[in-house]
Amino acid sequence: ENAQLKDIISHAKEYGFVYPSSEIYDGLQAVYDYGAYGVELKNNLKRLWWETMTRVSDNIVGIDAAIFMHPTTWKASGHVDSFNDPMIDNKDSKKRYRADVLVEEHAAKLENEGQVEKARSLTAALARLLEAEDLAGVRDLITNEGIKCPISGTSNWTDVRQFNLMFSTQVGSVAEDASTIYLRPETAQGIFVNFLNVQKTARMKVPFGIAQIGKAFRNEIVARQFIFRMREFEQMEMQFFVRPGTELDWYQKWADTRMRWHLALGTPAAKLRKHDHEKLAHYANAAMDIEFEFPFGFKEVEGIHSRTDFDLKSHQEYSKKKQQYFDPEINQNYIPYVIETSIGADRLFLLTLCNAFTEETTEEKSRTYLKFHPAIAPVKAAILPIVKKDGLPEKAQEIVELLKYDFNIIYEDAASIGKRYTRQDLIGTPFCIAVDHQTLEDNTVTIRHRDTTEQERVAISELHGRIAEATSF
Ligand code: ATP
Repeated sequence: ENAQLKDIISHAKEYGFVYPSSEIYDGLQAVYDYGAYGVELKNNLKRLWWETMTRVSDNIVGIDAAIFMHPTTWKASGHVDSFNDPMIDNKDSKKRYRADVLVEEHAAKLENEGQVEKARSLTAALARLLEAEDLAGVRDLITNEGIKCPISGTSNWTDVRQFNLMFSTQVGSVAEDASTIYLRPETAQGIFVNFLNVQKTARMKVPFGIAQIGKAFRNEIVARQFIFRMREFEQMEMQFFVRPGTELDWYQKWADTRMRWHLALGTPAAKLRKHDHEKLAHYANAAMDIEFEFPFGFKEVEGIHSRTDFDLKSHQEYSKKKQQYFDPEINQNYIPYVIETSIGADRLFLLTLCNAFTEETTEEKSRTYLKFHPAIAPVKAAILPIVKKDGLPEKAQEIVELLKYDFNIIYEDAASIGKRYTRQDLIGTPFCIAVDHQTLEDNTVTIRHRDTTEQERVAISELHGRIAEATSF
């Protein structure tokens, strides 16, 4: 793994952001837990997304649908038939790989070695075979190219088989007539099946949107790069229902709106780009990703898709329940078209961590700190009495009382003040508030700013306003 990513992963673990799941049992691949500061950061990101969608945007309401859904949902959505990855096993190492990834990595290697033409024709051949669902052809490509297993070093491969990414489980007792259901691989379907419920009960008029944050599960085979690709993750999705024919305007509008949101959160423009899909999914008539430059390259953080009426139409077909909307402005019934914005909360978390991770070396010293926008920082301020006597701890606690109902505040009185500043830098706290003997006389404190390390004297009565201003948009 990339050196910078390694530093970020160990920082995240050491300072209470992200741990491997069930670590005492050596972890569970592609599953992670969030620690004390991690959960605060993640909640802040989710809340910001939620507020932007349901409060700031016009005509969007939220829902919270269940993870379990009627099995027919996944027939209608296409996930039962086509949510597959082509897999191949090496007979010697018994390791399983994604066949397409093996070929792509081989092509990348050839390209690095200067065989650009060869690499291009290989990826083109792969694309043709995948398009034609010619799995035997993909296997031939792998064996003819002599692509070897990175573990065993042999090219003794099995056939290529499709492997569905959905996790399944049984409902009801196993002895009874149990039926198989799936853990949802995306949150979107919970919105589609509730389209009419929400439209009617919240009295929405097209164009309107439904937003949801929730867990999704995918049995990803290529589980790498920390929380970039997980088996259990959280999605923040919004489906915006529009009149047919207006969808491409809305698509543009949402692509721009979402890009502005990322910029407002402090992600530098140079690290973001839009990437139009060359190959559209069968249900889409336009699609793009917002990509971020992770330490391992530009990769998708958010997808914006124009999904036409595919989902509602398909649910209408399978459920035999009309999914139409009567548009009073044009006196017509229709199935609305849908623009979707879909972002992973964990992937946004990783983006935020990568952006914030700062290693600074000046002539005097070097320091590491997390430069979060104050609005998303897990802890907003640390209240630090410079000594643990003379009534300073009590005075500091009064300040905690003043702030703790509106902000996440930490109180700390152990170790030297310098060490305590360092510790707050490492978790990204924007303000350290030092309480000293002068505080007892004139009710002022020192604010030490994380990014500049500069200090200023401020009246206690000003603290609430100062923090509120810095932590809002
Ligand atoms: P990728 O190509 O990276 O697998 P995708 O195109 O399958 O992603 P979508 O199905 O469009 O992704 O999901 C929307 C968003 O959900 C992605 O942009 C990403 O932020 C997030 N996401 C998808 N799969 C995962 C995962 N396994 N772990 C973490 N986040 C994920």
